[in-house]
Amino acid sequence: MVDKVVTENGPDEASAPEKSLNFVEEIINDHLKSGRFGQVVHTRFPPEPNGYLHIGHAKSIALNFSLAEKYGGLCNLRFDDTNPFKEEDEYVQAIKEDIKWLGFDWEDREYYASDYFEQLYEWAVKLIKDGLAYVCELTLEEGREYRGTPTVPGKNSPYRDRSVEENLDLFERMRKGEFPDGSRTLKAKIDMAHPNFHMRDPVIYRILHGHHHRTGDKWCIYPMYDFTHGQSDSIEEITQSICTLEFENHRPLYDWFCEKLEIHHPQQIEFARLNLTYTVMSKRKFLTLVNEGFVNGWDDPRMPTISGLRRRGYTPESIRNFCEYIGVAKHNSVVDVTILENHVREHLNAVAPRVMSVLNPIKVVIENYPEDKVEEIQAINNPEDESAGSRIVPFTREIYIDQNDFMEVPVKKYFRLAPGKEVRLRYAYIIKCESVVKNDAGEIVELRCTIDHDTLGKQPTDRKVRGVIHWVSADKAIDAEVRLYDRLFSVEHPDKVEEGQDFRSNINPDSLEVIEHAKVEPSLLGVKSGQRFQFERVGYFSVDPDTTAEKPVFNRIASLRDSWAKIARKGR
Ligand code: ATP
Ligand code: MG
Repeated sequence: MVDKVVTENGPDEASAPEKSLNFVEEIINDHLKSGRFGQVVHTRFPPEPNGYLHIGHAKSIALNFSLAEKYGGLCNLRFDDTNPFKEEDEYVQAIKEDIKWLGFDWEDREYYASDYFEQLYEWAVKLIKDGLAYVCELTLEEGREYRGTPTVPGKNSPYRDRSVEENLDLFERMRKGEFPDGSRTLKAKIDMAHPNFHMRDPVIYRILHGHHHRTGDKWCIYPMYDFTHGQSDSIEEITQSICTLEFENHRPLYDWFCEKLEIHHPQQIEFARLNLTYTVMSKRKFLTLVNEGFVNGWDDPRMPTISGLRRRGYTPESIRNFCEYIGVAKHNSVVDVTILENHVREHLNAVAPRVMSVLNPIKVVIENYPEDKVEEIQAINNPEDESAGSRIVPFTREIYIDQNDFMEVPVKKYFRLAPGKEVRLRYAYIIKCESVVKNDAGEIVELRCTIDHDTLGKQPTDRKVRGVIHWVSADKAIDAEVRLYDRLFSVEHPDKVEEGQDFRSNINPDSLEVIEHAKVEPSLLGVKSGQRFQFERVGYFSVDPDTTAEKPVFNRIASLRDSWAKIARKGR
């Protein structure tokens, strides 16, 4: 299934900057030309409420809603809720929240396949009456045997030629609950020798004594996906029923039901599902990660669920832009996850206010700066956006810089702080390291420095200082918890495993690092969950819902790329 990895340099057939029509749009245009559905375009997004939505669903959501918008049509939200054992209202609510957050609106068109159960039952009865369906008593195992293999045709079930009356009676008794789970099914009577497996008398109803999240205990027989999906599309007068490639083989059956039931017949169109490197992409697998405690819930910021990405700090715009960029194709591929990461960087670069934070603080004492002086330094909020203005950052005798910005014995081309060397403190002074204070264990605990008082915000002409580092005032900074995330899986294709293993064996054990006592500038006191910032030279961060009034908690959304080089070039 893994065909190739789509990287930023070589997107698939999808995404040239000037896009021609994608293949779905071409099909829609043909429909509009032929008038097959008049001039109507009506799509739907049909999640099964058996888990939270993931970034793959975002692709489908964006496609269905955007096509409707582009053609002046409508897009429905329909819950495909035919399995009482796996589906829950919690998931329904989460799915709605996620779609809204992505910025799409189904207005009042919120539908449930379970609302069609009565109609579906009637249609099953119609098939029986037309001699096109029968109650079968083969066990699951026997049924499989009778189906044959791709090269061997199946055999007719011994129950296939029951009379219409007998089938009607048995089907009604199935509905009444007279039979135990698994003892009988209703099957469509098609062709046991059909080259397409799905056409070999597929099961259309099964007995499941389960409590359904909407219909309660009303039903103990439930229609199969194939007997629900197309008919639900039909009831809602969907025109293009867009689904992922694995349903291509189901299309003949989709068409067969619409034809035999003589109902509105949408066009099923299949596109390639989204796969990303360094992640799995299935609700079932995410459920495993949640249930087995590999992550802290569906909205864990490491999860590629919509709720995880939201909590991580992704913007809906960046996800929509990503979906637009990757486009739709007819062949499966794997998209490089850095494409997604770059979309959030790109958006946040434009909109996220800059602040200073020191994740691994080391204290710096400025010996030639008065002890109780507090200077108000002006800092630009966003160099990409003048309207974002500026803010005040306090400067004091004691500050923190990051441990990474100091080297006692600097390597070649190290332009940051080192004994006897100068560096610029962002927005403030040029500072020089005079000496290093160590504890008994020989660890550096403090740097003694001096500043050049004439260099506040300006570059001296007599010497060149290449490095710029960020800092916070030691007195005024506030404590913050910072959660640094790495990829949840340590390999590009987590589903590729040795025999006897599964994707869990590729989980990255170091995907979360928590810094309990980072120091952040005081302007960040009182930040609210969901706010996003660029920590200068460090990365993009969002405020986690765990934040309290006293202590903010930040999630790293993405690191910065080339930021150091850029700032150094500007020479500030
Ligand atoms: P999963 O395997 O993760 O449970 P699913 O296909 O079973 O996915 P559904 O709730 O049935 O999940 O999917 C709703 C819609 O989203 C379907 O039309 C499906 O084709 C589409 N979809 C699911 N996964 C992807 C993906 N990775 N890329 C694009 N579309 C997807
Ligand atoms: Mg599914």
